[in-house]
This record gives sequence, C-alpha cells and structure tokens, in this order.
Amino acid sequence: MTASIIDGKKIAAELAEQITRDAAELKAAGAAPRLVAIQVGENPASKIYTNMQARQCESVGIEYDLRNLSDETTQDQLLAEIETLNSDPSVSGMILQMPLPDQIDSRAVQTAIAPGKDVEGMGATNMGHLFYGGKGCAPCTAVAAVELLKRTCDDLGGKEAVIVGHSEIVGKPIAMMLLQSLRESPTVTVCHVATQDLAFHTRRADVLFVAAGVSQAKWRGASARAKKTGEPLVVPDLSPLISADMIKPGAIVIDVAINRIPKGFDENGQPLKNDKGRIATKTVGDVDFDGAMEIASAITPVPGGVGPLTVMMLLKNTVTCAQAISS
Ligand code: NAD
Repeated sequence: MTASIIDGKKIAAELAEQITRDAAELKAAGAAPRLVAIQVGENPASKIYTNMQARQCESVGIEYDLRNLSDETTQDQLLAEIETLNSDPSVSGMILQMPLPDQIDSRAVQTAIAPGKDVEGMGATNMGHLFYGGKGCAPCTAVAAVELLKRTCDDLGGKEAVIVGHSEIVGKPIAMMLLQSLRESPTVTVCHVATQDLAFHTRRADVLFVAAGVSQAKWRGASARAKKTGEPLVVPDLSPLISADMIKPGAIVIDVAINRIPKGFDENGQPLKNDKGRIATKTVGDVDFDGAMEIASAITPVPGGVGPLTVMMLLKNTVTCAQAISS
C-alpha cells in the first residue's frame, strides 16, 4: 500500500482565500479584523513567531499589532492591559506569546482574555465550550488536526482513534473534539509519557494522532547536558517515536509533531554544520514517514501537514470573532 498524502498546505491555501474575502468584507463595513499579540520580555524564539504572525495576517488582510511589554511587567499590569484590549471594539482577537515570565500565572491571564477574543481557544470558558461541544474558539492545532482527519474520512463511528500526547493545546482537545458526536464518535484512547506499551495501543488505531515531540526533546536534552558539563556530546537515538511496525495497515496518520533536529552527524558524532557555521537542521514529525507511507492509507507530512492549517485556524478565529463583534 502507498499512503496518500494529506496536503495541509493546499487546504490552508483554500481556507486563506475564504478568510481574505471575509476580512475584506469586514473592512468594507468599517469593522476591519485586528489581532493583537502581547509579548512580555525579550525572547528570540518568539520574535520569529511574531514576525511570522505579522506576515500571515498581512497576507489575508488582518491588521496585526504587537505589544511589547517589559520582562518586569507584573501580573496585575498585564491583566490591566488585557482588560483595556477586552473593552476596545477595534480589537478582534488577542494572543499571548509564551513563555511568560515566572511572576505571571499564564492560566490566569489567558482566562482574563474575553472569551469572544480568545482566538487561541486557551481560556477556561472556551475550554468549557469545547467540553460541552458548543460554539467558541478551540485550540487551533487541535482544530487543524481534526479538520485534516475529517477531510480524509467522514465516517468515524465505531473506529478506534488513538492520540499520542495529552497536552492542553493538542492531545486533550483532540480527544474532546472526537467525542462530540453522540453516535458517530470513534472510541478514543489517549497515550502519554507514562503509557506502558505504546505499540499495543497504536497498532489498534484506525486513526492515529501523534503529538509528543520526542526526538527534539531528546536532542535538546543531550546538547544542553554537553554544554553544561563541557563533556563531549553523546548523540541520543533520534529515530521517530512511531515506527512503521507500530501502525495498523490502512490507518490514517495525523502527525502533529514538529521536531527540529540535526540533519546529520560527522564521523566524530558531531552535528553537521551549514555554510553559516550553524548546526544544519531538518524538521521531522514523530512518525517514520517513509515507513508509514508503505502501510498507512493516508498521512500528513511534516512539514506541510498540520502546521500550515494551524496558522490558518488562528486567522479564521480572528475573523469569526470580528464578525461576532460587528454583528
Ligand atoms: P507537550 O510537551 O506539552 O506535550 C507532549 C506530550 O507528549 C505529553 O502529553 C507527553 O505525555 C507526551 N509524550 C512525551 N514523550 C512520550 C513518549 N515517549 N510516549 C508517549 N507520549 C509521550 O507538547 P505539545 O505542546 O503538546 O506539542 C507536541 C508536539 O506537537 C511538539 O512536537 C510540538 O512542536 C508540536 N506542535 C505542533 C503544532 C503545529 O502547528 N503543527 C502546534 C503545537 C505543537
């Protein structure tokens, strides 16, 4: 069997056209959608994300506004900023760049965002809506992953769905979404780091979601240890968490993970460098993609699967919130 590839980029491009039309309509009606990102303190990784967010918003006609607050901002000051944005009708949605400094309780501030502007779907009210199966913004990555599944298979009733990873932004919300139908839900199993026999579960899966990020975690751990101790780097086993023999023949595989790991190693076990002298990296998921191609019926690639659609879900939520505010 050769699996078909679930093309997240293509689906994201289709969705972008609709979002662009909706954003233009709102703008013409004097209610231009506007996304505000709040960044507390300096963080080089966040800068990459915020630049990317700005470009993506611009590409569909959503205004993007980045608020940079000092890393000494107190929780009360951040809550006051959020309150101001909550009551500003020109703001359609808000995102908090993570991580926040230690003095701030990220759950408390996430939940302070008005549910109608919580475009990441991470506040307690939207999480509650998700649990009840009602309306509201749900975490974008989970929505993207389930959307890719639904475009591949619309008959989930009676099937076995296995999710590897139980985080609040991916694994748990995927489980909730899959359980929303009374009669057409699959049976859902959620595996995690303490699961004893992962292969036992994954081999039963008609639908397999994987969101663990194991290779990257191992690589980061090994390189941090080498840096700290000054001892030579011990290259960990970076093979994918899910090998082909852990996949049921004919399964649909949605690989959510994004692992940035070295492209290769030299004869001394040191990571290869690029022409700028930096470690040459590649982006892979948690699934042995080539092996899975031989056994699954459909699979998302990494990159090009869940990632592009996740971003689009954030933009879609922003437009939906703007529509609700203007109506
Ligand atoms: P997280 O660190 O919060 O959670 C990781 C999960 O994996 C946990 O539930 C943990 O129990 C589980 N896990 C860890 N090791 C495991 C093992 N050996 N066996 C089984 N389960 C194991 O991570 P997250 O924020 O949920 O992200 C997960 C992955 O998804 C990461 O690779 C991340 O980069 C990726 N991600 C992708 C997108 C996207 O847009 N495609 C968005 C968010 C996260």
